[in-house]
Amino acid sequence: MKKTTPSAAFSFSKIYCSLFGHNYLLSKNVTHHIKEYTCSHCGEQATTNSRGRLEIMTPKLKEINNALASVHAKKMAKINIDTSFRVVS
Ligand SMILES: [Zn+2]
Repeated sequence: MKKTTPSAAFSFSKIYCSLFGHNYLLSKNVTHHIKEYTCSHCGEQATTNSRGRLEIMTPKLKEINNALASVHAKKMAKINIDTSFRVVS
């Protein structure tokens, strides 16, 4: 089943964004330094890259972010275990 997107309804947002720029809102914390943003007008996604600059989201970047997020989550879980152990003892 293919979902049809009403592109006409989004055209105003696209024009607005091309004139005034995207209004990116934080949508996901990948790591402390890398975050994902979604434009509140047109829904376009962007992410901070390894140099800390905002880049338009691509499938490749999404893949990298997902990998970073899982590594980060494991690291965080380990830190949480370590600190809670320290707090308890
Ligand atoms: Zn936009």
